[in-house]
Amino acid sequence: KPDLAAKIALKLKLAKPAPVVHALDDVSLTIREGEVVGLVGESGCGKSTLGRVIAGITNPSAGHILWKGVDRGAMTGRQRHELGLATQMIFQNPMAALNPRMTVEDLIWEAPHTHGLARAPERNAYVDRYLTLAGFDPAMKKRFPHQFSGGQRQRVNIARALAVQPKFLVCDESVAALDVSIQAQVINLFMELRDKLDLTYLFVSHDLGVVEHISDRVAIMYLGRIVEEAPVEEIFRHANHPYTRALLAEVPRIEPGKRRFKAVEGELPSPLNPPKGCHFHPRCPLATARCREEIPVKREVAPGHFSACHLNS
Ligand code: SF4
Repeated sequence: KPDLAAKIALKLKLAKPAPVVHALDDVSLTIREGEVVGLVGESGCGKSTLGRVIAGITNPSAGHILWKGVDRGAMTGRQRHELGLATQMIFQNPMAALNPRMTVEDLIWEAPHTHGLARAPERNAYVDRYLTLAGFDPAMKKRFPHQFSGGQRQRVNIARALAVQPKFLVCDESVAALDVSIQAQVINLFMELRDKLDLTYLFVSHDLGVVEHISDRVAIMYLGRIVEEAPVEEIFRHANHPYTRALLAEVPRIEPGKRRFKAVEGELPSPLNPPKGCHFHPRCPLATARCREEIPVKREVAPGHFSACHLNS
């Protein structure tokens, strides 16, 4: 009928396609076994999205995630399940990750029991072992998450992740919500656990001071792309990319005679409409005409040190 046709046409006209956001663009990152890689950038740069994609929580629309050389997209169901246990994510807000109606004991026991990693008679010893590893007193395991401080809850969260015997932890701003003194304790805990349990970490943070302390290698993200990647000392002593150098200027440090760069000026552009050429050019004091047209490719500027800036070519 003509009426119906008109209604359908109207609906079709109103249904606009959702805008496409490239939260990640041309990202390639290798994390070696036993390594701590720090992933740094301002809020909204895509670092948490990358962490979630690597942890298997968010599916990328394109690209490949390889685990020990095997493409996750080509894995069998069993391999994916094993990878799901081997990779755990620890978020910024522990309360959001903990069911408030479950005791600490139940929270720790739930996943290993469900996945057959431990049998019922082992429950007490199993729960106590992982709480102790995370520096949480097992005597308090009958209590609920809301009865603890933020630092204690984060330890419960860490114990919960460890209880499924992971190999790789993706820590997304895991200490950002904690007081500075508690932050230091939790960072030290991560380092101890790395040695005790042979863990590998991706440590996502906006805090370069924290990343400097914990990482072996650092990747700097800007608007969905990794713009610089290097061993931690290289990044802090010989930063190459103007964005990294601007970020470093925001870390309080006392180094007389050392050249300081200006803090990052301006806002991070929207990933909906990223600037043409080098995405950093509207904020870069060194931008040239070429920067406004051409996306720079990553080049090795020193052994193991990569940077994507036209000034290197
Ligand atoms: Fe700055 Fe150009 Fe380098 Fe981009 S490519 S960081 S705009 S100098």
